Amino acid sequence: MNTAQVQPSVSNRIANLSESQTLKMAAQARALAAKGVDVIKLSLGEPDFTTPAHIKAAAKQAIDDDFGFYTPVPAYMGLREAIAEKLQKDNQLEVTAENIVVSTGAKQSLINVISCLVNPGDEVIVFTPYWVSYLPMIQLAEGKAVLVEGDIDNEFKVTPEQLAAAITPRTKAILYSSPSNPTGTVYSKEELKAFADIVAQHEQVFIIADEIYEYITFEDGYFSIGAFDHVKDRTITVNGFSKGFAMTGWRVGYAAAPKWLADACIKMQGQFTSATCSIAQKAAYAAIVEDKTPSLQMRDAYLRRRDLVLSLLKEIEGIKTYVPKGAFYIFPDVSTYFGKSDGTTTIASANDLCMYLRYEAHVALVGCECFGAPNCLRISFAASDEQLKEALHRIKDKLALLK
Ligand code: PMP
Ligand code: GLU
Repeated sequence: MNTAQVQPSVSNRIANLSESQTLKMAAQARALAAKGVDVIKLSLGEPDFTTPAHIKAAAKQAIDDDFGFYTPVPAYMGLREAIAEKLQKDNQLEVTAENIVVSTGAKQSLINVISCLVNPGDEVIVFTPYWVSYLPMIQLAEGKAVLVEGDIDNEFKVTPEQLAAAITPRTKAILYSSPSNPTGTVYSKEELKAFADIVAQHEQVFIIADEIYEYITFEDGYFSIGAFDHVKDRTITVNGFSKGFAMTGWRVGYAAAPKWLADACIKMQGQFTSATCSIAQKAAYAAIVEDKTPSLQMRDAYLRRRDLVLSLLKEIEGIKTYVPKGAFYIFPDVSTYFGKSDGTTTIASANDLCMYLRYEAHVALVGCECFGAPNCLRISFAASDEQLKEALHRIKDKLALLK
């Protein structure tokens, strides 16, 4: 008889997958707070506002109306139609309900699209800095991420020349967010046109445009790349309700994709989760068709806070900033502190600085190796003015101790 103990282990696929650093940082900050530490959490990218009242009312009504059964996998038809109408009207996309697949957050929309598009060995060009979950998703699809880096001196924007140089016969897609998480960079219509012109020359290349921060833009003229005629059949637009409507926990996102790809996403989702929560779907419907004033008010508050954080950061020596044009993040270069020490801790990386600030200043941020930019730190300014002032004050004090 074989008495050797077999150690239980997870699959290689999951063992090799990195954990979401944003969620990990948020969990660590919560754990610190649970111990009674007065930690200011600027780590998780999540609105600090509550879901607007009319959206909550729609959900309550849905419960009372017994809308608690399974819906069709891509959502009930009324929601798909409303999303298609929004995309036609606001974003000039030529879509109908059959192009829309609603999922359990934009996160699931992204993994659906990537899994349904990318074959093993296919290359996906990822604008860098990138959102943390893009690379693990490409990895799960056995694709190869090709990083194209934007420079902080150019607001972290990737240039058309960089994109053109990165495309190979194996390129399947380009993937970016605008406004960007983690940088807040927003691409203009002209810049997107230049990308579209390049992609149009390579008929095997698709565009995955993550527009989840669409409602949080600080300048006029938000534009969706899928509106350009020459790439409209090869663009997948991903969006959701978490950020613009303060609905992170409701878990509703969507993809607008060519019908053949939307159908593939429905097939995949049908085997994983089915439709997202029916009650949340009714809430999302209210968000999309009813009053947008609360979203605009939140956007105005984020703009005010951005300016507050920028002005406070300018008072801190050595931190290099730029002006984010959307989302609620700022991503300063902190490399000037590398090699410095407070006498006990020596800072070798942005992650070290992040730890130092968490344990010494009790401010939770995200160190940015997980965003593909090792010199930077992500600060979320989705927090109250008071919290932001106090956090930046603490950061300034503790950074001053590093010599
Ligand atoms: N894309 C980006 C760029 C994000 O920041 C987020 C935030 N979590 C998501 C997608 C996913 O959002 P959700 O799943 O909450 O809709
Ligand atoms: N997107 C947010 C962030 O970047 C939420 C956390 C997550 O889903 O990764 O912090």
